[in-house]
Amino acid sequence: MSNLSRRNLLKISALAAAATALGANQSDSNAPSWDGEYDVIVIGSGFAAHAAAVKSAMRGLSVLMVEKMGRVGGNSVINGGIFCVPLSPKQKAQGINDSRELFFKDTLKAGRNLNNPALLELIFSRANDALNLTLECGAEYRDFLEQSGGHSVPRGYKTSNGTGAGIIQPMQARFKSLPNTEVKTRTKFDKFITDDSGRVVGVEVRENYRFDNKLFDDDRENKSGDKKLYRAKKGVVLASGGFCADKVYRKLQEPLIPDNAQTTNHSGATAGAMLEAFRIGAYPVHVSHLQFGPWASPDEKGYGLASKFNVTASFRYGISVDKKTSKRYMNEIADRKTRADKMFEIIGKDENYPIHFCDSRPVKHMLKEQFDKLLASGALKRFDTLDALAAEYGLNASTLKQTVAQYNEYVKQGKDPDFGKILPKDGTDISVPPFYAMRGVPKLHHAMGGVAINNKAQVLSSITNEPIAGLYAAGEVTGGTHGASRLGSNAILDCLVCGMVAGENV
Ligand SMILES: Cc1cc2nc3c(=O)[nH]c(=O)nc-3n(C[C@H](O)[C@H](O)[C@H](O)COP(=O)(O)OP(=O)(O)OC[C@H]3O[C@@H](n4cnc5c(N)ncnc54)[C@H](O)[C@@H]3O)c2cc1C
Repeated sequence: MSNLSRRNLLKISALAAAATALGANQSDSNAPSWDGEYDVIVIGSGFAAHAAAVKSAMRGLSVLMVEKMGRVGGNSVINGGIFCVPLSPKQKAQGINDSRELFFKDTLKAGRNLNNPALLELIFSRANDALNLTLECGAEYRDFLEQSGGHSVPRGYKTSNGTGAGIIQPMQARFKSLPNTEVKTRTKFDKFITDDSGRVVGVEVRENYRFDNKLFDDDRENKSGDKKLYRAKKGVVLASGGFCADKVYRKLQEPLIPDNAQTTNHSGATAGAMLEAFRIGAYPVHVSHLQFGPWASPDEKGYGLASKFNVTASFRYGISVDKKTSKRYMNEIADRKTRADKMFEIIGKDENYPIHFCDSRPVKHMLKEQFDKLLASGALKRFDTLDALAAEYGLNASTLKQTVAQYNEYVKQGKDPDFGKILPKDGTDISVPPFYAMRGVPKLHHAMGGVAINNKAQVLSSITNEPIAGLYAAGEVTGGTHGASRLGSNAILDCLVCGMVAGENV
């Protein structure tokens, strides 16, 4: 604000006045008749919303959580449950050397240096506080630390049940156990209500809303529900998640994405709530950076269980080969953008899906029931020999065996001169049958962009370049933290830290 000239200030006031006249704002003199009031209203019910809601309720504030779908949890509850915690107690106990520099280097490399350094510092410095918040709520984690693609060392806490529900369910129970808390599902947030100064003082929602999967564009076409106005005395936290399932908005960002492109996201991952924040002046950041998850399968819907096999077993301890050459073509644990781009080159126009595989040992890191279910589904196949694997997928058996022999030699030497993969330190190569393999395809996974926030999770205004009073945001609806491409497991970290910070500051 201090850098703005008097002339600009006058222009801004005129713009604000015009917006009021058009009915974009609610003036004090025309205060709405509220249907209820709370200290804090949280929009959404994923990691970011729960961290904000629990934290503000722990401060003794009354909190309403609104969720448009019939169940809580959004993408968070179906997520893979891998939570990046740099400098964690488990890393220390397992003798893993990590550092601020290494975490920044990995994250900036994946993000192509577009990451907002202040937000990166925030998620790094508060990672253990976020972990402790989940532990305090009752979340449980396995001892095995995951090393998701692009991370130089294992940093991933994994929930005991192998999904984000392992965090959401205990946080939801904790939230409900705190006084003056309420959750409303099938309640769609439509509009912010602002006063004369531009402060967000409440929300307009529709209760009894029914999300309709059959509509092409639910945000605009669905008119269901009953309008209600709720006052937020201290503030509103926008935690409405990403928009990878929004056929209209994602195509505006990337015109080549077909309407029927598969996504790992739940069907309610649409842009409407974020667009409402833009309408009251929030800055948009990086909205055209959409991430494809490189570990999915064309033989399953959504994220599925194949993703878990590739993340935990095949990419880290095995290899991926091009069906046309029977050779490797990428670093299997590079960052997601690097891998997805390479895979799309291979897949081309004729659906030449690459084959990901490993031997019998790495699958022990998967949860047994998930592994058994995946195998039974047929998306993952088991082979006693590499010849049988080659025959199933139409690979050249002798080239495949040479590829594997070469890779095993690299593991022995601890160096991959072809693609620079960080090889398993325990020497796991591809030599102990049976072998497990599947076809792979990247799927639309994460919206990197969203509203701009500062390190207090306040939403920044494009009208004043200052925080919008009364408005906070956290999670996938925000932009900037991950730059051009998010590292696996950094989303839980980002959502929980920024949600927690919003809950502390609101
Ligand atoms: C299948 C899958 C696996 C993943 N695995 C991992 C992993 O292992 N580790 C990791 O770090 N990240 C992972 N991610 C990414 C991570 O899960 C998401 O980025 C994260 O869950 C986003 O959390 P959020 O709180 O921002 O939004 P969400 O959890 O998506 O919650 C937002 C909620 O807001 C609701 N909402 C939207 N609009 C409105 C509205 N207008 N009114 C009311 N409610 C609204 C939505 O319905 C939704 O329930 C995964 C993602 C997916 C899809």
